[in-house]
Amino acid sequence: MACPEFAFHVPSLQELARVLQKGLEENFADVQVSVVDCPDLTQEPFAFPAKGICGKTRIAEVGGVPYLLPLVNRSRVYDLNRIAKDIKLPGAFILGAGAGPFHTLGFNSEFMPIVQTEGGHRPPVNGSYFAHINPADGGCLLEKYNEKHRDFGCALLANLFASEGQPGKVIEVRAKRRTGKLNFVSCMRQTLEKHYGDKPVGLGGTFLVQKGRVKTHIMPAEFSSCPLKSDEEVNTWLRFYEMAAPLVCLPVFVSRDPGFDLRLEHTHFFSHHGEGGHYHHDTTPDAVEYLGYFSPAELLYRVDQPEETHSFGRD
Ligand SMILES: [Zn+2]
Repeated sequence: MACPEFAFHVPSLQELARVLQKGLEENFADVQVSVVDCPDLTQEPFAFPAKGICGKTRIAEVGGVPYLLPLVNRSRVYDLNRIAKDIKLPGAFILGAGAGPFHTLGFNSEFMPIVQTEGGHRPPVNGSYFAHINPADGGCLLEKYNEKHRDFGCALLANLFASEGQPGKVIEVRAKRRTGKLNFVSCMRQTLEKHYGDKPVGLGGTFLVQKGRVKTHIMPAEFSSCPLKSDEEVNTWLRFYEMAAPLVCLPVFVSRDPGFDLRLEHTHFFSHHGEGGHYHHDTTPDAVEYLGYFSPAELLYRVDQPEETHSFGRD
């Protein structure tokens, strides 16, 4: 599949650290942004199949909300090994947020892709998680994908950060006690948009919610049988939760859309205590503590962009 490619503006890590420090200080009481060696992400609490988020970095947006809403389009299913080839990085290490492979699972779910794809110098590993709603009590069920399944599928929509998975220099962000209205990711994204204007900058990586709680949603196991045509209707369909730290989040964000109908920010998370989902914002501004590692993307790829679009269901 040919997919459009776009070269992001790639500032130096030092410059990005300065810009993010200033922007985050407007929204958090205690902020420290620096350039560091990426910690070994194969270690807990990450336990990723690759050590880092460096090397040939790229962001891929796959499909989109129009394949989920107003009604599901069941033909839009994907394979992450195939996507790695489509974005010219076979063997890519991929992190991100998307919809679970309903065609394999048999139901809809929130998907946390954590994949070492095939064709690289490491063996392929699907370390992804998915979160779905427990039919018995309406609670969250978080599962490791490879405990029951061998494939590398995903479906409908995904925002992905891909790299060679190498160690290297990254931006470390520590932010505590939220004083502003913006969530952690929106604050960084809007800071970049303000500073870089019409030169789009893309970032991905991982961050921990070390303390506090977050508002999250999980999509129902059944796709809606009646068309969902507004944010209000979507919010009635989704199930909302509050989940507790420690959480491992997989953010992908782009400061500005260069014209590919992008979802500008999308973050899913998993944990080691059975909770996972789609990150909205923390609900405990006085207690919250974030620690993140980010790498700027060099390239953007738009995979299977929907022809017909709309603007709801993007929160
Ligand atoms: Zn999501």
